[in-house]
Amino acid sequence: MTAQLLGGKELAQKIKAQVAADVRNLDGGRPTLAVVVATDDDAAHWYVRSIASAAGKAGINCRIVDLGAGASQANLEAELVSLAEDAGVHGLILQTPLPPGVSTAQLVGLIPPEKDVDGANPVSLGRLAVGEPSFAPATARSVVELLDHHGIPVSGRYVAVVGRSAVVGKPLAHLLLQRDATVTVCHSRSVPLARFTQPADIVVVAAGRVRLLNSEHVAPGAVVVDVGTHVLPDGSLAGDADEASLSEVASALSPVPGGVGSVTTALLLLHTVEACRQHVAAGVLA
Ligand code: NAP
Repeated sequence: MTAQLLGGKELAQKIKAQVAADVRNLDGGRPTLAVVVATDDDAAHWYVRSIASAAGKAGINCRIVDLGAGASQANLEAELVSLAEDAGVHGLILQTPLPPGVSTAQLVGLIPPEKDVDGANPVSLGRLAVGEPSFAPATARSVVELLDHHGIPVSGRYVAVVGRSAVVGKPLAHLLLQRDATVTVCHSRSVPLARFTQPADIVVVAAGRVRLLNSEHVAPGAVVVDVGTHVLPDGSLAGDADEASLSEVASALSPVPGGVGSVTTALLLLHTVEACRQHVAAGVLA
């Protein structure tokens, strides 16, 4: 069996085209996304530049606030409070990694849920868990959108999610539950991992471990979605799934690069336009 590739580029283009059209139809100003950065990490800066470039093409302002790798908790808090109060900012993201010693939990709690376009504030995750309106983390939503785009049903199926982080695994489990999947969330103590992933119709791997998932972990015909992103020493990219072995067993597999990651930025922009629209609507009603 050679697995069907679940590419994300066509879906990303479709979402970006929708964002550009939505921006043109917005009555009441240009959406603005602020991204707070406090790191020297090259990959983080590359990612932020790619958000800014995609935002510009879609007609969204992107304000990058770079506080430098030496930023303190107080610097970061002051900036987030200021951007939270700024009526001209509709979406707000705190880019990771952050300087050692700062409390990520305290900082993301300063992002108002209505501007929390990457679902980082625990309030957003709580709302997602109980089915109230909120922005899901873009990466978690990308997985569901990618499955939809390729016509892979979720309802009534068994999905194993490998990884329980607050930004990917946990919100994804809630999104899948909302879509009537039966979900098992695996983590580093789920041993042996194959015991939990073998029975699954769909396995999503977001473990941050290069090529962790291989053909021994999945049943023939399973669908595999790879969220992992790793830059290898030779500069190439790899995921959390071992594409070579899985492509002989899985019926479908999302590639890295060109799968989930392609969709994430487009969804951040979609969330920003939605946040702007809600802001405008609230102003009209006030
Ligand atoms: P994270 O915070 O490090 O969480 C990793 C999770 O995987 C943890 O729950 C951990 O379990 C679990 N895990 C680690 N080793 C495992 C093993 N051997 N078996 C089973 N579970 C294991 O990572 P994250 O932020 O969720 O990111 C996960 C991956 O997605 C990374 O590769 C990251 O680069 C990628 N990512 C991609 C995008 C995108 O847009 N494509 C965005 C964000 C992240 P414990 O809880 O027990 O430690």
